[in-house]
Amino acid sequence: MEGFKKPVEGFATKAIHVEQETNWSDKLVVQPIITTAIFRQTEPNVVQPLFYSRYGNPTRSSLEKCLASLDGGNFALAFSSGQGTLSSVTAILESGDHVLCADGIYSGTIEILGDLKYKGIHFDVVDFTDLNNVKEGIKSNTRIVCMESITNPLLNVLDVEGVCKIAHSHPNVIVIVDNTFLTPYYLRPLELGADMCVYSLSKYLNGHSDLIMGAVVLNDDGLYKRLKYIQQTYGAVPSPFDCYQASRSLKTLAIRMKQHGKSAYKIAVFLSNHPAVEKVYHPGLPSHPQHELALKQSYGHSGMISFYVKGDYESTKKFLLSMKVVSLCGSLGGVESVASIPAYMSRGKRTPEQLKKLGITSNLVRLSVGLEDSNDLIKDLDCALTLSQS
Ligand SMILES: *Cc1c(COP(=O)(O)O)cnc(C)c1O
Repeated sequence: MEGFKKPVEGFATKAIHVEQETNWSDKLVVQPIITTAIFRQTEPNVVQPLFYSRYGNPTRSSLEKCLASLDGGNFALAFSSGQGTLSSVTAILESGDHVLCADGIYSGTIEILGDLKYKGIHFDVVDFTDLNNVKEGIKSNTRIVCMESITNPLLNVLDVEGVCKIAHSHPNVIVIVDNTFLTPYYLRPLELGADMCVYSLSKYLNGHSDLIMGAVVLNDDGLYKRLKYIQQTYGAVPSPFDCYQASRSLKTLAIRMKQHGKSAYKIAVFLSNHPAVEKVYHPGLPSHPQHELALKQSYGHSGMISFYVKGDYESTKKFLLSMKVVSLCGSLGGVESVASIPAYMSRGKRTPEQLKKLGITSNLVRLSVGLEDSNDLIKDLDCALTLSQS
């Protein structure tokens, strides 16, 4: 992949060393898992920072500090899922507040924002690929602008810096960027002006499809204190075992992301030339509508590709069920390659008309390229695509 920003220096070293050893003993190269839920206190009338593991746990704190460093942020907070992160973050909103949200983003996000109506908080969805819609969409009571670095499943690249400039011309508006699809290895939203960066660690950051977790990274002290209170009090916290596993996975994040990116680009080029494929979306391809923007704001692209199989649902189903290496699964970001039909598998509450308008049809496939040998993946895709047309 040519033309992207140069990789962040020292990223892999931080992922392997920041808080990975802990300060409990300078002899430990790998941190222990601190499972205790309670901490012995020395004075009945002074609550120590380590008191009860919902309020704070050393294994969780280590993970949070490592995550913060990878995004170049001051603070991070880990939650029990990506959804738990967003519901905790949106708990800062008050009745009467408004949220402006980008079109085409993760359906679970839209569902959380939709449910806020029961608390008197409303939201609008507009197309963020045109910044005029952002300008016009912000109202006097807008408190949060919510977007993704790359939308799902069509992989539209959204201009993080452009959106932040518009949002920050209004007092009190904060920008939240869901950077799950790229991770800080390929995009650093805080550097581009975002106030908060949210993740589902269930995807690339953990990367082995074996845990559910989320996190937010931010710089502002006041917002951090409010979110820390929400984390401690609402209590959507991850377990020390899961935090350990996520920390361990971060050690290979750089090398995994590099390989996901390399293989996916090769596969995107292969798919673009395949007679059974109508159209491919990958931000590294010059044919992508926001190719230039992707080159300008990110350090590369992950393993995510979307493409239309020639024909209808039946051909697409045949293609998906004929593959032997790539599994038919929702989710993404793991070492194993998976593919899905977003029109059925991540539609949320959208109507067939809304999906069609967005281009999410029943022959659109979302592929998460894993870390298998790329030649095996290409062979698998090629055979299944050929079969799909028979
Ligand atoms: C999966 C996902 C989420 C939700 O995360 P969970 O860990 O499944 O709760 C949020 N945003 C994006 C972009 C996702 O892909």
